[in-house]
Amino acid sequence: MVQGFLRLLPLVLAVSGAIKALGVALGWKVSQLQAAQRRRVYRRALAPGQLRSEARAALTVIVGDALLITAFRMYQDARFAPFSWQATLLTFAWMFVMFEVWFYVTHRLMHTRALYWVHAQHHVAQVTNPLTSLSFSLMERFVLLGGGFLFVAAASTFMPVTQAGVLLYILTNYTLNVLGHGNTEWLPERFVASWAGRLFFTPTFHALHHARYQGHYGLFTPMLDRWLGTAFDDYPQVHARARAGNGLERMGERIRPEEALPTPGAAAPVQGLGTP
Ligand SMILES: [Zn+2]
Ligand SMILES: [Zn+2]
Repeated sequence: MVQGFLRLLPLVLAVSGAIKALGVALGWKVSQLQAAQRRRVYRRALAPGQLRSEARAALTVIVGDALLITAFRMYQDARFAPFSWQATLLTFAWMFVMFEVWFYVTHRLMHTRALYWVHAQHHVAQVTNPLTSLSFSLMERFVLLGGGFLFVAAASTFMPVTQAGVLLYILTNYTLNVLGHGNTEWLPERFVASWAGRLFFTPTFHALHHARYQGHYGLFTPMLDRWLGTAFDDYPQVHARARAGNGLERMGERIRPEEALPTPGAAAPVQGLGTP
């Protein structure tokens, strides 16, 4: 068993490390584009030492994840169902929904005074960048991946769970994670109020969590925050401003919800914005 683990580990480390590194590198490249710079949600510099701290955490996460994934595969690989499109889509949907709930609950718990130490590394970023998507403590990684593994293992007992479905979810998770930490608003202003915007998050949604801490605990859907009263009132306004090229300049800045959304092409009002 130990031999099997050691045989599998280098492959998992190489593949999962390469996917993570590639995702961050691509995200970084995109965030340097002029179109991205214009649409920054927070128009502020990163904190001194932030990138160094995040890079160190990311390297630890890459190694820690590989150990956890290898251990889990030793258990799970024989339990996967043979590939079929139907089972793969079902696996993906199951993972997506269950992980949203797991993430919201554990994330909210980690924002309590007693458990914040587990999550503090992720909040080294008050202003995020693609590397923030890998900046976690090992303990937090253990909680997050542990939940994911639990849902895969549990589902395998009552429905066909395919390896392709799990892989598809992991790739989607990494991609959206990099996007969500890009501090760049790509989605059009009308998105937030649309049905899609009620189902899915935007980079602004998560940028607000990093700037303000208490609220927007959800991962890729804003629904749980809406239902549980932890959504920020001015999310649509902040989103619209970021998309219009007029992102926030102060961390504590709030926009009064009744304030008119900026009209495209017009300079958004600066007077009277925010609270101290
Ligand atoms: Zn984050
Ligand atoms: Zn948090």
